[in-house]
Amino acid sequence: MTTPSDGVLTGGHASDKAAPWPAYLTASVAWHAGAGVFAIAAPASWPWAVAAIAANHAALTAGGLWPRSRWLGSNWTRLPAHAAARREIGITIDDGPDPAVTPAVLDLLDAHPAKATFFCIGTEARAHPALCREIVRRGHSVQNHSDRHSPGFSLLGPKAMGREIAAAQASLAEITGELPRYFRAPAGLRNPFLAPVLQRLDLQLVSWTRRGFDTVRREPTDVLARLARGLAAGDILLAHDGNAARTQDGSPVLLAVLPELLARARSLGLVAVTLPASSLHSRSDDAVSPAEATASASP
Ligand SMILES: [Zn+2]
Repeated sequence: MTTPSDGVLTGGHASDKAAPWPAYLTASVAWHAGAGVFAIAAPASWPWAVAAIAANHAALTAGGLWPRSRWLGSNWTRLPAHAAARREIGITIDDGPDPAVTPAVLDLLDAHPAKATFFCIGTEARAHPALCREIVRRGHSVQNHSDRHSPGFSLLGPKAMGREIAAAQASLAEITGELPRYFRAPAGLRNPFLAPVLQRLDLQLVSWTRRGFDTVRREPTDVLARLARGLAAGDILLAHDGNAARTQDGSPVLLAVLPELLARARSLGLVAVTLPASSLHSRSDDAVSPAEATASASP
């Protein structure tokens, strides 16, 4: 495996992260213990203890079903502040690579020019490794979108969830030569077991600022309006090359939307960059943060 050319290795953003278990989960454990102690100390009040635990579980479930929540740990819904200050946006393209769509997406990105982040599925990357490499060769970034994109991803236990993400991580690193640093959950759905897995694999969870719903919406003007509404520096947009809905004339919606989206971004003075590029504190090599400098120097 070769070294990523931007000089920021996998550990470069580890210092941005907190403990493996987010504060909310630590508080949940304490909440359970407190409810147990309360029930033992005052047995007649046990229904209140049960209700307290049920309320806590409902909150954890809601946090997992809400893709943009931070209740279950760190979650990017926007680019870092220093990227927004540079007027950068992040276009993220999920569920590929798809030989029927991705090559045309790459051509459109080149024509504008713009860079994007492709959250690839492990099985699709293994089926189309050359296309996966082509994404990176054209200056874009390939990141982890799970190995199988299973609809039951958010129901997995800690071991199965770890295997699912690690398998994609290994395949994508072997195919592209670059170890992914960002993860997006299938459909954005999670459970409390995800945060420790991401911590162990040094992956940052990324959701989005807005999504186009372009796996189900077939009308390009509708998808464009959703993605471009209030478009501003620091936005992370979610679109799809894999599982893409088709327009009435049978073409993938993203191909119809992307030129106008990129034109609007440019008219606002916005620059579409990859997620790894957005995490750089400076464009110049002599101004990297101490954490990045340490990461770059490590073997
Ligand atoms: Zn997906």
